[in-house]
Amino acid sequence: MTRASRLLIALCVAAPLLANAQAALTPAEQKIRETVQRSHDDQVAYLERVVNIPSSTLNLAGVRKVGAAFRASFDSLGFATKWVTLPDATQRAGHLVAEHKGKPGAVRILLIGHVDTVVEPGGPNWVRTDSMARGVGSGDMKGGDVIILFALKALQAAGTLKDMNITVVFTGDEEHPGDPLSVTRKDLIDAAKRADIALAFEGGNRFDATTARRGASSWRVTATGRQAHSAGVFGGAGYGAIYELARIVNEFRVQLVGEQYLTFNVGTILGGTDVEYDTVGIKGTAASKLNIIAKAAVAHGDLRFISEEQKKKTRAKMREIVAKHLPGTDAKITFLDEYPAMSPTAGNARILVAYDTASQALGYGPVRALDPGARGAGDISFVAPLIDGLDGLGALGTGSHAPEERVNLNALRMQTERAALLLERLGHQSSASFARKPASE
Ligand SMILES: [Zn+2]
Repeated sequence: MTRASRLLIALCVAAPLLANAQAALTPAEQKIRETVQRSHDDQVAYLERVVNIPSSTLNLAGVRKVGAAFRASFDSLGFATKWVTLPDATQRAGHLVAEHKGKPGAVRILLIGHVDTVVEPGGPNWVRTDSMARGVGSGDMKGGDVIILFALKALQAAGTLKDMNITVVFTGDEEHPGDPLSVTRKDLIDAAKRADIALAFEGGNRFDATTARRGASSWRVTATGRQAHSAGVFGGAGYGAIYELARIVNEFRVQLVGEQYLTFNVGTILGGTDVEYDTVGIKGTAASKLNIIAKAAVAHGDLRFISEEQKKKTRAKMREIVAKHLPGTDAKITFLDEYPAMSPTAGNARILVAYDTASQALGYGPVRALDPGARGAGDISFVAPLIDGLDGLGALGTGSHAPEERVNLNALRMQTERAALLLERLGHQSSASFARKPASE
């Protein structure tokens, strides 16, 4: 046997061994897992306690109360915590920010949760039936919040948390972000500027996680025409506002439909001689007579996109369509930014691989990327333009944003084990190794 072929055989044997070594649990990891399992009842009791504090976004006292409960827990883990208040004009409760400093040079991880809910329950509303519990916010996302907390507790018990650089941000208005976003998302974005990667704990699934999600914005077209007798509509009087608006939305459909991950829904449309439209309430009235050419019309819709580039390209095309007015009409379009896109990146994919490997090492099977079209926007979207990340690491459940929301308590253990192991495996790596690489598109 030549030296070269011996080396080749050695490599062939070593490669699978190396893969196994990565997949199997180390003694520290085994201890982390056992702590999560042992803490299960405490974790469920904790979740019950915070679910029983009603905290819909506009219930500012409730949101702060849930925030204070988590703040005390992060304090006891040695985090430096603060409650960030927002200007009164935003009518939002604020955010919890908790920071843990570990080894200089180790990756800085941002963990994202939120303490507000969509529905406001009348009071304590937790009802447990076997391994399921019903409760507003039980999955979305107080369940995700307790996954973060108990994963960190397990790392502390194993003695490995002390080396990790972790910032936790629990926002108080994820479900209904206050205006302006530049103010209400500032602390989250600032935290991302001090971090290398982000992990978000919105509702999870057993076999997938979120490496990309579409961004969202709104658009509004207002068209005007010359009010005149209808008899002149195709002549000197002009086509009127409604034909102009109909042309525009139809051209949007004809020219832009079919691009992957791009949608632009027309939410509402109004037209006539007297049009009143409330852009915040998304409601209005229109009046006219059948023999009058319409003077005003408005259409209002959303625009969802997978990248900033796709958003810009689409907006340019929409502006171009709007500008080609029918005779005797005018129109203009305005856009409002809401959520940036979380575009697929090589870094996001790499974090998913780490999560997938951790899941398999724990015996929970593979985790793949969720279809980006299948998930709405979330808080991680605001930091995705800055750093790589992964979302969908939270609780498993059903009925989010509804009174019948339920959380799977057995799966809570699985999600906490997977989150803790992911943190353990990422948290000791170097910060430099997570510097963002160019997008994989
Ligand atoms: Zn949520």
